[in-house]
Amino acid sequence: MSVLVLVEPHEELSLQAISLARDLGGPVNALAVGEPVTGLGAYGVETLHVVEDDRLAAYAPAAWAACLEQLIEQVQPSAVVAAGTNRGNEVLGHLAARRDLPFAANVIGVGGDGSVTRVRWGGSLLEEARIDSDLKLLTVAPHMVEATTLNGAEASVERFEPALEDGDLVVRVVEHAETPSAGISLAEAKVVVSGGRGVGSADGFGMLEELAGLLNAAVGCSRVVTMAGWRPHTDQVGQTGTKVAPDLYIACGISGATQHIAGCKGAKKILAINSDAEAPILASADYAVIGDLAEVVPAITAELRKALVS
Ligand SMILES: Cc1cc2nc3c(=O)[nH]c(=O)nc-3n(C[C@H](O)[C@H](O)[C@H](O)COP(=O)(O)OP(=O)(O)OC[C@H]3O[C@@H](n4cnc5c(N)ncnc54)[C@H](O)[C@@H]3O)c2cc1C
Repeated sequence: MSVLVLVEPHEELSLQAISLARDLGGPVNALAVGEPVTGLGAYGVETLHVVEDDRLAAYAPAAWAACLEQLIEQVQPSAVVAAGTNRGNEVLGHLAARRDLPFAANVIGVGGDGSVTRVRWGGSLLEEARIDSDLKLLTVAPHMVEATTLNGAEASVERFEPALEDGDLVVRVVEHAETPSAGISLAEAKVVVSGGRGVGSADGFGMLEELAGLLNAAVGCSRVVTMAGWRPHTDQVGQTGTKVAPDLYIACGISGATQHIAGCKGAKKILAINSDAEAPILASADYAVIGDLAEVVPAITAELRKALVS
């Protein structure tokens, strides 16, 4: 039997989802809504089904689920897989409700008998589970599965025209408003400078912004910071925020709660700057500076400036 993967345009995590979907066996079909996605053949997709409908292109969760539901009838897959993005989880949640099926989120491995390994409790444990259903629905935990290529030919592209009802289109994105400060995307940044309660105030983030500017980095933060209104929720890293996987994550005045680490453990290296030598984040950090971040961060910035000038 085949496998059907929901592919989000310009979403690296979709390639990780395809790579895991291959382990389920059978030809890999993909669905892209809005625009064709090129280069999927290299990842093992044989057929790409494309829905070209302006009403859905920017995102419409129930309508995307309706597309998947109708394509299932045509493709007859053994499983539907999506990336563990907000959208992937939401669309498969809709699909599960429409088909009254179980749905496993945050999967990192699959067995031949319907068994899955998935991340639970903000990444603090791995669960072995079995999806008790002929059609398996699952999303893939971000940055836990490598996106690997094969020597596949380019995927064949087929237009798919779903029959949508008005109710499918009640919720849809009609406009994107860029925030004035929108710079380097947190999810894609190679370096993230992140601040927690230890930064002390919204103004305190000025020194983190300065350091981030020199490093071409994005600024992130902990939930304490967003709850205090010092930064917008879009900057939050963690279980209920963005999951990042930069080369370097600089955690300034962040204690390292499980829910925060769930969002940054994909980083290749973590540098913790913390005044408490016993802070839990040190267990996850590759490097640490124990000290007051109000002194340490400006000192790093000053050294960087010197290095950049010379
Ligand atoms: C369901 C649920 C979901 C959650 N989701 C998230 C999430 O997505 N992201 C998230 O971040 N949290 C999340 N949390 C909250 C999480 O449990 C922690 O409360 C939060 O991460 C703590 O933020 P913090 O590290 O900034 O603050 P604190 O835990 O208060 O830590 C502050 C740190 O700053 C250090 N510090 C203080 N002053 C200085 C200084 N001058 N210089 C250097 N260091 C200093 C302290 O030593 C301490 O380690 C969630 C919680 C729940 C229950």
